[in-house]
Amino acid sequence: MAALWEDVLRNKQAVQEAASVAVDAALLEGVLMRTEGEPNASDVVNYAPFTLLPSAVPSALFEQAYAVQQDFNLLVDAISQNKEFLERTLASTIKVDDFTARLFRIHMQVLEEGLAQSVFLGINRSDYMFDCGVDGTPALKQIEINTIAASFGGLTSRTAAVHGRVLKVLGKSKEAARLLPNDPSKGLASGIAKAWELYGSQSAVVMFLVEEVQRNIFDQRCVENELWNRNIRVIRKRFRDVFEKGSLDDAKRLYMDGQEVAVVYYREGYVPKNYDQQNWEARLLLERSRAVKCPDIATQLAGTKKVQQELSQPGMLEGLLPSRTEAVARIRATFAGLYSLDVGEEGDKITATAIADPDRFVLKPQREGGGNNLYGEELRQVLEKIRDSPERTSYILMDKIKPQPAMNYLLRAHSPLQVSECISELGIFGVYVRQGKEMVMNKAAGHLLRTKAIEHADGGVAAGVAVLDTPYLV
Ligand code: ADP
Ligand code: MG
Repeated sequence: MAALWEDVLRNKQAVQEAASVAVDAALLEGVLMRTEGEPNASDVVNYAPFTLLPSAVPSALFEQAYAVQQDFNLLVDAISQNKEFLERTLASTIKVDDFTARLFRIHMQVLEEGLAQSVFLGINRSDYMFDCGVDGTPALKQIEINTIAASFGGLTSRTAAVHGRVLKVLGKSKEAARLLPNDPSKGLASGIAKAWELYGSQSAVVMFLVEEVQRNIFDQRCVENELWNRNIRVIRKRFRDVFEKGSLDDAKRLYMDGQEVAVVYYREGYVPKNYDQQNWEARLLLERSRAVKCPDIATQLAGTKKVQQELSQPGMLEGLLPSRTEAVARIRATFAGLYSLDVGEEGDKITATAIADPDRFVLKPQREGGGNNLYGEELRQVLEKIRDSPERTSYILMDKIKPQPAMNYLLRAHSPLQVSECISELGIFGVYVRQGKEMVMNKAAGHLLRTKAIEHADGGVAAGVAVLDTPYLV
């Protein structure tokens, strides 16, 4: 197959012209980020990095990813309600991983006290790459599912318009017309709005729990805007604010500065560096409250790498989703090989295999946000060091997915325009709302395509490695 956009890629002048149109279009559409130099002010902003051209995505795999999203929503929700599963699955991990252990302790404490929360809201993003088989046929393989602070649903709602403009400038109006509409910010907001409504207090607000450093604020503002459009009041607070000004009343209603909070939407709290002692206390207060947490702590734990690995074990999906044979099959079809490093014969064997052939695998700790995984020689060295230590169990091993690279230009502020060999990762946003035992919303809410140069093994957009993209179905 001829590479997509081959004619354009060779035409340096056309590329240069299109790139300057693209950057202005991104600014016009609001594909924005604050700058590294001034991450907490909007006086100077720039465009979020993006590809010049949309990337080819096999339409069958794109449809497959959408088709399995409601199943993943059900699965995550089922795990979050299954105390025994989480306890058993994370038992070895929490012995060696302090962060997961602390989250788990809050989970147990809240359960012992009795859940005050009765409405549950999940916003997740299931990420995939297209694994290139020996015969060249691509297959959809899940990288991970993000159950907390899944980002870029806002900005990506605006990237298709930018790529549409670029294609038109390049004389490709027909292709531009084929770009799919995509609006995760609306979908995410619809879930938050539903949860807010079911919480049932007109005067209560939605609280975005945000980081100290807020470079990606425009992504969040996109979702926030949708809520304001529905006349739902949004406040933005940090853990620090919750520690200082948050309180619960007798019925465990959450108040911030005297304002009742119906929904807490976390865009923070997924890595150890988000927490000091006060922030842990703030997290506990939020979890104990009646407010709808997106996600509650059990759902955050359901998104750990260890849980992902355990799900691939025989019988696990069937146990969690009884009598949903088709959903289980759809989910399993997206799994790559995942391996436990728990102490024991099986763990010893796979450790030895990975040391002998590190390029077949990715070594993953229980961390989020990109840049934590180990590959190749580094993977080998770390595994050799910890092969006989319990520290091994804080990681999982995963088969390395090998997508077919394609050429594209990555547009980044202050960077030279040059062509790169790239691979893409497709994310599908899932949104669900449960009231008591009843699912009242369960849907796929749009997609995100991120693309990076192949020389980077790891890292997302926020980490400065991947850039925003738009799928062009082939
Ligand atoms: P994080 O929680 O840090 O985002 P991920 O599991 O998503 O962790 O991994 C981060 C990045 O590493 C991914 O975006 C992808 O580029 C790369 N990666 C992760 N797992 C694999 C894999 N099995 N094969 C190839 N690349 C992978
Ligand atoms: Mg990821």
